[in-house]
Amino acid sequence: MNPTLSLIVPMHNEAGNIELLYERLHRVLSPMQITWEMLCINDGSTDNTLDELLKAQLHHSQIIVIDLTRNFGKEAALSAGIDFAKGEAAIPIDADLQDPPEIIPQMIDLWHKGFDVVLAKRKTRDGDSFVKRNTAHWFYTIINQLSEVDIPQDTGDFRLISRPVLNALKQLPERRRFMKGLFAWVGFKTAEIEYERPERHTGQTKFNYWKLWNFALEGITSFSDAPLKIASYFGILVSLLSFLYAIKIVADTLLYGNPVKGYPSLIVAILFFSGVQLIALGVIGEYLGRIYSESKQRPIYLVRNIWQTNNHDNT
Ligand code: UDP
Ligand code: MG
Repeated sequence: MNPTLSLIVPMHNEAGNIELLYERLHRVLSPMQITWEMLCINDGSTDNTLDELLKAQLHHSQIIVIDLTRNFGKEAALSAGIDFAKGEAAIPIDADLQDPPEIIPQMIDLWHKGFDVVLAKRKTRDGDSFVKRNTAHWFYTIINQLSEVDIPQDTGDFRLISRPVLNALKQLPERRRFMKGLFAWVGFKTAEIEYERPERHTGQTKFNYWKLWNFALEGITSFSDAPLKIASYFGILVSLLSFLYAIKIVADTLLYGNPVKGYPSLIVAILFFSGVQLIALGVIGEYLGRIYSESKQRPIYLVRNIWQTNNHDNT
């Protein structure tokens, strides 16, 4: 029999968090009398996450371990979880306890009231550094200006999604998966609840600034083609301005007899427009690279092994 709820936990080097995460989930879910499974996706951990998971599974039958063949990244690990989830609803949740299980009953409550998606939105970003808070804010402002889907600010992947949403997500064929965007793209009736995001329990964040920058590029290029158009509009503007400037030079020479100003203005113009052209080429390159990787049609992830015990209960 299928469980009511699937918890989807992407894990990359999270050995120290498994037991506590299970305990917190268990404490919250067992009084609710629902059946649940905890899908742990081992995303190429280099520590003993897999051993710890298998050990934990001996005592806790809700744990299902999906071991990927290498590190495919959080988005791919989440996609694996979505593919394997058997629940009537699923909740992606970080392994580091930054997504507090204690708000799950509220999510389930709203789901029972008819919402297909229940977003968990963090109240503050006090835990983040000044730079991360600001760059995150700019990112959401820019992407929401540029793309047709609205990606809610200050939400991560922590949310409840019902079976119809899971099925919709499984239909999206893209290989490059910016999950937050895909979650938003599928739509459905959505509710929001707020929570306070705590610090990571143990271990380290896997997202440094360079990774976050690439994550942001992934998001923008996956959900908007505006950067491709910017070059054309900028080109039109520059052509118009240079036409006006040409008139000014002719008038200057004919009316006032001013000599043509040479080298400095020329070199500035050349350097500026070479830069602009390289940027435009780079933008095209970003999209081209993504078309290339989509066209190869490789699977999003590969599974090495799945371990599960065949009984789901709420004990
Ligand atoms: N994660 C993953 N694969 C990766 C990187 C991260 O499965 O390549 C998992 C990680 O184990 C954690 C979640 O994604 O459960 C969020 O990662 P992290 O806490 O490092 O991100 P942050 O909270 O700092 O944004
Ligand atoms: Mg974290």
